[in-house]
Amino acid sequence: MASLETLSPPARASHWGAARLWLAVLAVLVLPLLFKGDFILFMATQALVMMLVAIGLNLLTGYAGQVSIGHGALVGLGAYATALLMVDAQWSFWPAALVGMLVATSAGLLMALPALRLSTWYFALVTLTFAQVVTDLLVEWRSLTRGFSGVVGIPAPSLFGKLLSPVQVYLTLALCVVLVFLATRQLVNSRFGRGMVAARDNPLAAIASGVSLWRIKLLAFAVSAAIAGLAGAFYAVQKTVITPEDFSTDFSIFFLLCIVVGGQGKLWGPVVGTLVFFLLPELLGQLQSWRLMIYGVLLLVLMLFAPHGLMGLAFWKRRASDRAAALKPPGDRALGLTPVAPMALTINDLHKHFDGVKALQGCALVAKAGSTHALVGPNGSGKTTTLNVISGFIRADSGQVMLGTTDVASLAPHQVAQRGVGRTFQTPKLLGEMSVLDNVRLGGYVSERASVLEVAFGLPRARADDAASTAQAFALLDFVGLTERAHELAGDLPHGQQRLVEIARALAGRPGLLLLDEPAAGLSMAELDRLAALIEVIAASGTTVLIVEHHLDLIARISQQVTVLDRGRVLAAGTAQEVFSHPEVARAYMGREGTGGSR
Ligand code: ADP
Ligand code: MG
Repeated sequence: MASLETLSPPARASHWGAARLWLAVLAVLVLPLLFKGDFILFMATQALVMMLVAIGLNLLTGYAGQVSIGHGALVGLGAYATALLMVDAQWSFWPAALVGMLVATSAGLLMALPALRLSTWYFALVTLTFAQVVTDLLVEWRSLTRGFSGVVGIPAPSLFGKLLSPVQVYLTLALCVVLVFLATRQLVNSRFGRGMVAARDNPLAAIASGVSLWRIKLLAFAVSAAIAGLAGAFYAVQKTVITPEDFSTDFSIFFLLCIVVGGQGKLWGPVVGTLVFFLLPELLGQLQSWRLMIYGVLLLVLMLFAPHGLMGLAFWKRRASDRAAALKPPGDRALGLTPVAPMALTINDLHKHFDGVKALQGCALVAKAGSTHALVGPNGSGKTTTLNVISGFIRADSGQVMLGTTDVASLAPHQVAQRGVGRTFQTPKLLGEMSVLDNVRLGGYVSERASVLEVAFGLPRARADDAASTAQAFALLDFVGLTERAHELAGDLPHGQQRLVEIARALAGRPGLLLLDEPAAGLSMAELDRLAALIEVIAASGTTVLIVEHHLDLIARISQQVTVLDRGRVLAAGTAQEVFSHPEVARAYMGREGTGGSR
């Protein structure tokens, strides 16, 4: 186990690193103020507006995996709402900007609805069409928007009754960008961020952890649209004139390029990407007309040499792992597991057909609360299908699934998970690009309580959630013997350890019922022994365990009851001793007479 001594030096180094980083940010922000004339300041303000949009889009596209080619339209809606309220209704900037954010958010949610049904690329097309419709609307709804000529004479924002100078607008915007960046960082490092990445990379893992894909994607949309709306408000007051053409498709694509260049799903990606994409051609001055060419070449070079964007380059990777190492295991933690209320499971007369295949034909079993129940049978006998039906991943054609006294057969799988059913998969489903620790923390998704706003502002409940989930994840990794690998990428672990991580993740939800699908497959003898001991402790903590397994020794050691399936029907049920001596079981399952032994 890693001791605190070995972990603290990188933690201190990363403190110093963070201080230097923010000093550099401050220097860059002050830089435009040192130049004479308005041009540099104007460009810098513009760059910050773009950066704001890119930060929001990165949350949606980089983290939640939803590609939007319509973000420019959301910026446009924020800009128009703010501009019209300020010009036509003499509102001051801040309430107008708030309405701008609300309008953009509502439009973003509208745009999001198809996201719940369509695959990524179809969805990207929908956002493109949506953006087209919005720009058409801005042109056609002349009585409100003044058509092609746009809104002119947008006043500067004021604060405490005083109009802000361009420098003050720049500083206010800079403050907003920093605050939004920090809020996004909080979100990304919270259960919401983990839920988004899981929804993007491994939806089944997300659902099994109790994440509603629908809600998490909607959340990403709402936050990123609100940020686009805020950026739009600044866009309007900075330019003082806005026209529908400002928000055309290439405007939308610009933001996508920024986050691709910077590195999608990396916090600093949109910051770096916007700087490169926006400022480079400007600084190159005469090369302006080569702008598109420069964009293209830059993209190609990056795709070749840095497919994960500038932020994916090795130098930054190392920083990221320093940061991860700063998360220390808590000093004194309780070994073992916190007790849970056991949950009884009764399934009755389950039927499930896949086209011609009758996977389940009256499958039934009763697992007493707090017991360990094994489900065995030859390949294709319906064991995995049974687990899928119990956890809601597959809806049975008929039959009952009772948790305690409630029928859960009609619940969605994330709802079943929220009710305390944890599961693993026959092939482990981990987030390969996420740390082992964060994989386990994902499992605690439903037990965290802080709302999005609490998380974004780093309020006490969010910090308590964060500390508790980290401590719990370390305790669980300790329990499965993987503390030292906490900061490695889950995808880098050998197969047997991935199984253990998946078990730790399932336990993070402190399930009343745990479903294990062939957890011992591919484990060494030593690992097998450890697994048996783990399951005994899990059961002792109160969790009911339903385990699909082929190792008869393991089953005989840990389970009180065994149900044998054959072609979707129950062939025998009873204690391990009883069923393994059952002649039909010996014939159908083991293909030989007698008991014991592993296969
Ligand atoms: P086991 O886990 O006991 O090996 P399964 O429950 O995975 O068996 O499968 C039972 C039967 O149902 C098999 O014949 C399998 O091919 C079929 N089956 C399982 N899932 C599907 C599916 N999604 N589509 C079609 N057939 C399936
Ligand atoms: Mg199976």
